[in-house]
Amino acid sequence: MDINSINIEEIVKQVLSGMTGNAPVSGAAPAAAAGSVPKTAHVAVLTEKEHFEIREYPIPPVGDDDILVKVEGCGVCGTDAHEFKRDPFGLIPVVLGHEGTGEIVAMGKNVKTDTAGNPVKLGDKIVTCMIFKDDPEITMFDLNKKNVGGADVYGLLPDDDVHLNGWFSDYIFIRGGSFGSTFFNVSDLDFDSRMLIEPCAVLVHAVERAKTTNILRFNSRVAVQGCGPIGLICIAVLRTMGIENIVAVDGNEKRLEFARRMGANATVNFKDFPGGVEALAGGVKAAFKGHLADFAFQCTGNPVAHANIYKFIRNGGGLCELGFFINGGDATINPHFDICSKEITTVGSWVYTLRDYATTFDFLRRAKGIGLPMSDLITDRFPLSEINEALKTNLAMTGLKIAVVNK
Ligand SMILES: [Zn+2]
Repeated sequence: MDINSINIEEIVKQVLSGMTGNAPVSGAAPAAAAGSVPKTAHVAVLTEKEHFEIREYPIPPVGDDDILVKVEGCGVCGTDAHEFKRDPFGLIPVVLGHEGTGEIVAMGKNVKTDTAGNPVKLGDKIVTCMIFKDDPEITMFDLNKKNVGGADVYGLLPDDDVHLNGWFSDYIFIRGGSFGSTFFNVSDLDFDSRMLIEPCAVLVHAVERAKTTNILRFNSRVAVQGCGPIGLICIAVLRTMGIENIVAVDGNEKRLEFARRMGANATVNFKDFPGGVEALAGGVKAAFKGHLADFAFQCTGNPVAHANIYKFIRNGGGLCELGFFINGGDATINPHFDICSKEITTVGSWVYTLRDYATTFDFLRRAKGIGLPMSDLITDRFPLSEINEALKTNLAMTGLKIAVVNK
């Protein structure tokens, strides 16, 4: 080993900082391959609307409760696209990316387990979930009442002096202690599955909400409207639950074909029914061999689609509306015909709980086990240096899931 003056200077610094009680990572976790952790990281900062800039920042010292993760990749979410185009959350300048995964390359000595209580070590692959600043002691087992509405996430945090706050980067800094970070060891899932965890958790949550109606059963006829990534994953979750009678509705033949590969046994292209919603409902009924749906999932952000879906559902059926993640405008329905006289049971679904994450890991294993083409959902992969193109591709809606990958 070639100990030169720089090494010695480093060692002296470490010893000194250890004496002050503010030990950097190499002192706290000797197994950390100090040589493999660079001094700086690159992050994609959204500096103005429709413009990311790659910036280099020093990697802060990893404290006793912190984790430094080398980012492998991160999915592009609709939320990222909204922020890129319009900055509705007023976060600029911001490092986006919350559907990321990567490898622990350094961690403080107090980090022993993930949020589920499973052990973690250097080299493990993790994902982050919500940040509970107001309740850092929270565990995943008392969370049924909480969804992300009351929490922050990495990738939607305002910029600060740490900077490494989002997954569109080559390193992300997971802060421990009272910061309230939650994270999971997902080393047993493949790379693509790990990038799909967050959107899949949205569907696991939606199906849990749907189950509260007591209408969704193994033999239910289920309509899924909207075959973007969310609708397609909805079909996958239903299939892994053993629901087989699924009709997918969309206006894009390519997406409908994917819906069939994902397990829908019939599809309806609304463009084949220019005569209006009654004709379209007739198409859905024909796809169910003469029956309306027992239950429907509305997975588009289009108010007309919301208004239409009631016509696809039988009397006494159920509906889960999850397409309006953000305000998509008002929808006009007729409460008498659409809800009262049909006695429709409706639930809304938004984001997920921490608890849903654990269910999602199982779902992804089952989906792989029964051969669903989950990886094919990721249609476009861009290096970090081309993140502007990645976001523009997402907005163009030419693919399905877009990912930014570092490997
Ligand atoms: Zn997302």
